[in-house]
Amino acid sequence: MPGIDKLLKGVLKYRSTIKDEMTQKLKEVTVNPQPTAVVFSCMDARVLPTRFCQTDVGDVYLVRNAGNLVPHSKGLGWHNATTEPGALVLGCQMGDIRHVVVCGHSDCKAMNLLYSMRNELDHHDGDALQLWLRRHGSSSVQKFEQWEKMKGREPITFQAETPRHNIEALIDPENNFGIVDKFSQINTLNQLQNIASYPFLKEKLQTGKVRLHALWFDIHSGNVYIFSKMEKKFVEINEENYGMLMEDSVKDPKIKHY
Ligand SMILES: [Zn+2]
Repeated sequence: MPGIDKLLKGVLKYRSTIKDEMTQKLKEVTVNPQPTAVVFSCMDARVLPTRFCQTDVGDVYLVRNAGNLVPHSKGLGWHNATTEPGALVLGCQMGDIRHVVVCGHSDCKAMNLLYSMRNELDHHDGDALQLWLRRHGSSSVQKFEQWEKMKGREPITFQAETPRHNIEALIDPENNFGIVDKFSQINTLNQLQNIASYPFLKEKLQTGKVRLHALWFDIHSGNVYIFSKMEKKFVEINEENYGMLMEDSVKDPKIKHY
């Protein structure tokens, strides 16, 4: 495995290539910050939203963790303080960020582990990763079991911006992905519900001042998908679909029920 010299050499390359341009950009966004989104992504080294979304300095607040989980607001307190809701406060309450994105991916090690533990979620022991996944991923397992019971034929429902504007989701109806990848897609959508559970976001979500989006990255093809409320499934973002997906993403939840 490469050592720390890989990172140090990277800094040298940065200094000789993009540093000047980046310093200029840093000055601009410090004076006039206009970030687009708070993004929750898996920490997997293969998943780089800043690369495949081609974002720059000042564009996104990025939180990465194992399994792109955002803990539900229930139980939040001194003994269960995590960084994810803090990031929502920083971005959407103290700042004026209008989009929150959760990004899952295929071949997710965290989802593989959670899937393998799905029958022992009431075990309140294990290592730090197992505890994190059991504590904050059990509702995704419940959604998955609900989907399995319907044999994947019927859409399952997730709450997004408000309880009145549910998302109906068909999970991989073309059957392009394996069962754990389907679970990963369900988990990604389930995080939108968790985000919507925070009272400080309620008014912003109801009025469309904050919008929720789910992305999913396929590490095998490099394709990026977004959940389409109209299509009720994850749709590949490409030149052909871009117009439809944009229209889908900016619809006002006050006007149309999904
Ligand atoms: Zn992952």
